Amino acid sequence: MSIKVPMLYTCLYKAVVKMALYTMRSVFMKDSIVIVPCENKVGYVYKFARKKGNEYRCCRCRELGKDRYITVVDGVVKGRKDPEVDHHEHCEPFPESVVRAQQLDREMRANVRATGKRSREAFSEMMQSVAKKCKTSDEQADVVANLPFYSEVRRQLARHRAQRCTPVPDPLNLPDSLRVTLRGRQVAPDDNNFDEQFLLYSG
Ligand SMILES: [Zn+2]
Repeated sequence: MSIKVPMLYTCLYKAVVKMALYTMRSVFMKDSIVIVPCENKVGYVYKFARKKGNEYRCCRCRELGKDRYITVVDGVVKGRKDPEVDHHEHCEPFPESVVRAQQLDREMRANVRATGKRSREAFSEMMQSVAKKCKTSDEQADVVANLPFYSEVRRQLARHRAQRCTPVPDPLNLPDSLRVTLRGRQVAPDDNNFDEQFLLYSG
């Protein structure tokens, strides 16, 4: 079923979306999800994940077995079809505060993974950024209520950090992963240089 939308409405609608559309990291830590705010249900959003090129597919519809695509170019939804119509009958938009909290949480994890920042520091920075990213205190409280506690993320953050920084508890006894060259770590197990060791001074 297609709905004819008057031209004027389409133009207004595009102008609004252009300002509000933003992206977030997917679970796999890539910037490949666009968030489309609902016009008909204020405070709610749809999430569309990139399929290929400029094509994005509704995340919830996909789980329900329906393909609902939109085309996004330069942060704007293209085409005249309203992105809120033609979803699976059980596809409901997400509360924006939940999605914003997810976004902050994923950015924090990516930050720790990329920089090796300490968990406590990354968590504090995330909490501080809530104030900057929310316009009202109500909005801020809603987002904070959906963020994980530090105790919940501490272990996971430590794991992200360990992927970048190998802890060295005893400087005289280096962990195995620091004794192997980059080449030694990257080649296949049947390669001559697999597990290649640095030349270490042995006394
Ligand atoms: Zn949908």
